[in-house]
Amino acid sequence: MSESKKRVFSYIEEYRDQMIRLLRKLVRIDTQVPPGLNYDLICDVLADKFSELGCEVKIHNATEKYLKLSGAELMGLEGPRSNVVARYRGKTGRPILHISAHIDTAAIQEEGWTVDPLGGAVTEDNPYGRSAYDRGGGYVWGRGVSDDKGEIVSMIYALQAIHELGITLDGDLILTCNCDEEIGGVAGLGYLMREGIVKADYGAQWDGGLTGIGLAAQGRTRFLVRTLGKSYHGQLPVLGVNAIEKMSKINVALTDYWRNVLLKRQKAVPGIVLPDALKEVGVDKLTAMLNIGTISGGVQGATVPDRCEEEVLRGMIPGETFEDVKDEFTSVIEGVKATDADLEYEVEVINVREGYVVSPEHPYVLEARDIVREVTGTELPFTGTLASTDMNYQVNDGGMPCFNLGVGGPYSNGHKQDESASIDEIVDLTKIAALLYMKKLE
Ligand SMILES: [Zn+2]
Repeated sequence: MSESKKRVFSYIEEYRDQMIRLLRKLVRIDTQVPPGLNYDLICDVLADKFSELGCEVKIHNATEKYLKLSGAELMGLEGPRSNVVARYRGKTGRPILHISAHIDTAAIQEEGWTVDPLGGAVTEDNPYGRSAYDRGGGYVWGRGVSDDKGEIVSMIYALQAIHELGITLDGDLILTCNCDEEIGGVAGLGYLMREGIVKADYGAQWDGGLTGIGLAAQGRTRFLVRTLGKSYHGQLPVLGVNAIEKMSKINVALTDYWRNVLLKRQKAVPGIVLPDALKEVGVDKLTAMLNIGTISGGVQGATVPDRCEEEVLRGMIPGETFEDVKDEFTSVIEGVKATDADLEYEVEVINVREGYVVSPEHPYVLEARDIVREVTGTELPFTGTLASTDMNYQVNDGGMPCFNLGVGGPYSNGHKQDESASIDEIVDLTKIAALLYMKKLE
């Protein structure tokens, strides 16, 4: 093991430039979601690469059923929901390790970028701070470099090192590059796991940062709320019913509900820590949340609006079920309706993603922590997040022990303008992936 480990690590160091070249190629394919276009294009590029490495490769487009479940129409999704599944066969085919990363990216803000978000520029320094793993390898810039295209490159080059060096594996390695993670992953990894296209004994979600090993996340439900009023001339509003006013009442009630009820609904997860930024505002446990994310309605100032719509995201702690969450949400709005006979509303569910907690005592995640230490010299904490990730499909639908890990930290501006990734981190994550493949499958 130690001899092949040395060869693999020096191969990976040697191939830095090629890795960044592939990353730039992926960044230049615009896969921001919504709308999530170009999944077919990026899947073609990735499928070619996997074929070169001796994998059995297939592109799976999610079916109509999964497009519906993902709320495609409500969210304005466009184009096919393509996913690449690559299988690298070992001698015996047992056990099976599945690594997943996502091809979509967070949306690109129209303003505030100082670099081309689809450019993939490389610099030596980073004005937003340095990665803790920075050994002078520089930074690459653009939407998705740290979330999640740098991770895709790392899972590929880890396999390339093993394949090119002729190291044989016993078990099978399944690598998936799946779509729509940023909007719930229903037509991405959700589709692959629920349809039984991917089955494995161990999993890893190559997403997140190199600051902690992720074991827990919250679930969430995305609601669409609509109020219906009666249009009239805006200077005679007494004769109309203003849908925006009605929504404002609902929003006062929703705000009161989450600040006074949900924030107190918490679940401790022993052995798992939450990010410092949360602890600083007093949140040290998984905590139910609510966010009013969008609002739109009305046509102009001189018309009473007859329609207002908004998207609300409800973060769920482990133990909360979708049915309970939906009932409670609706009852808050019903409470408003009880005081206002003119209030007419509709609630639709856009999509749902479950949460999960993996035990920090599971031998597989302890082994993962050792591998990270072996590569970086750092013992990472086991962490949880109030956000949600695609790992739920591996844990809840696939029944496999799993953890998530990626590139990025406070310096990398994930989801914000000027996203970057430390090239040394991408190299380190590649070594971690290679070691994981070898330890679990050799
Ligand atoms: Zn991500």
